[in-house]
Amino acid sequence: MEIYLDNAATTKPINGMLEAIKPYIETNWHNPSSLYSKSVNIKNKIEEVRNDVATLIGADSEEIFFTSGASESNNWVIRSFDDDCISNGDNSIIITTPIEHSSILDALENPALMSDYWFCKVNKDGFIDLDNLKTSLELAKHNNMRILVSVMFANNEIGTIQRIKEISKLVHSYNGVFHSDCTQALPHIEIDVKELGIDFMTASSHKLGGLKGTGILYKSKDIELSPLIYGEQERELRGGTENVIGIVALGEAIKGLYYDKANRVSKLRDYFIGKLEDEFGCTVNGSLENRLPNNANVTFPQNVNGESLLYMLELDDIFISTGSACNSKSIKPSHVLKAIGLSDEDAMKTVRMTLPYDITKYEIDKVIESIGNSIRIMELN
Ligand code: PMP
Repeated sequence: MEIYLDNAATTKPINGMLEAIKPYIETNWHNPSSLYSKSVNIKNKIEEVRNDVATLIGADSEEIFFTSGASESNNWVIRSFDDDCISNGDNSIIITTPIEHSSILDALENPALMSDYWFCKVNKDGFIDLDNLKTSLELAKHNNMRILVSVMFANNEIGTIQRIKEISKLVHSYNGVFHSDCTQALPHIEIDVKELGIDFMTASSHKLGGLKGTGILYKSKDIELSPLIYGEQERELRGGTENVIGIVALGEAIKGLYYDKANRVSKLRDYFIGKLEDEFGCTVNGSLENRLPNNANVTFPQNVNGESLLYMLELDDIFISTGSACNSKSIKPSHVLKAIGLSDEDAMKTVRMTLPYDITKYEIDKVIESIGNSIRIMELN
């Protein structure tokens, strides 16, 4: 029986997903923009999901845009801010952290980007250094720069949850715009964008029980958004015939979010971490207090190579990750682990295990047993 501990990489589509999307393949497959009633119904379905997403995060439906994923949404935020500054002839700065997802970090390296970018320090648990952020904001203000601050709500590797409200308050006190990549947080934490002072929010359907290829961008009404793809759809800001199946699936997935179950999984995760510490001498990366409920990111003390462990556990039908799944193909140590101070050697001895909400104690014990067996085999070789 498969034990899938890589839920930060992607999640299994929720039960009933096939039945929910089937009508949109078999009967309601028409173009949502056509005029006949079948199409109008599909368009209405898209708007219903938009409304449900808006309600989920405390926004208005006209503030929600559908994209191909959080990577696209993140790129859009950066580009839109930059475009707006260019067209107004404003000097601009993007302040972010070294532990963001590659879709932010790589977008900042785009040579066509006119805005400069600065990194804000993070501490050993992955929390942003607010004094350092304040100093950067002061400097930006002094230089008369327009400011975008992009800080992820929760980290995809170490699970640390930032103090988002404090950050947004600080950013707004310098007239900055605040973006938060909520891809990892939204499956676990109730987010109210207005309450938290988030101006741009991005998220992804396949991390919360939906399908791959569908993303969310929330943009506060008070902020400009420039077109990403010229065309008619998404209020002429992101053209292209809508990904109806992906959007319907997103609507189903958010109905399946059970924030009240987070407590149960976090207790089992704590039990799991306790075992990893006691039996193998692992150390935990990331905050213990403000952490995603299903995240266990640990470094092994012995000569345990994370990648070898991953392949050995696969033989027992157990699936884990070394660092972030998005860069698990490369043998480079994770940029997140390095940013919180791990050596290359320790980063290579680190694994991330993100539990499903229906995990049982029995399954956790099986994983511990399998890790124990794998380590013994590695020691013999
Ligand atoms: N941001 C974060 C924090 C993520 O974890 C991911 C997925 N690894 C993304 C963005 C990109 O999401 P998508 O796969 O929808 O492009």
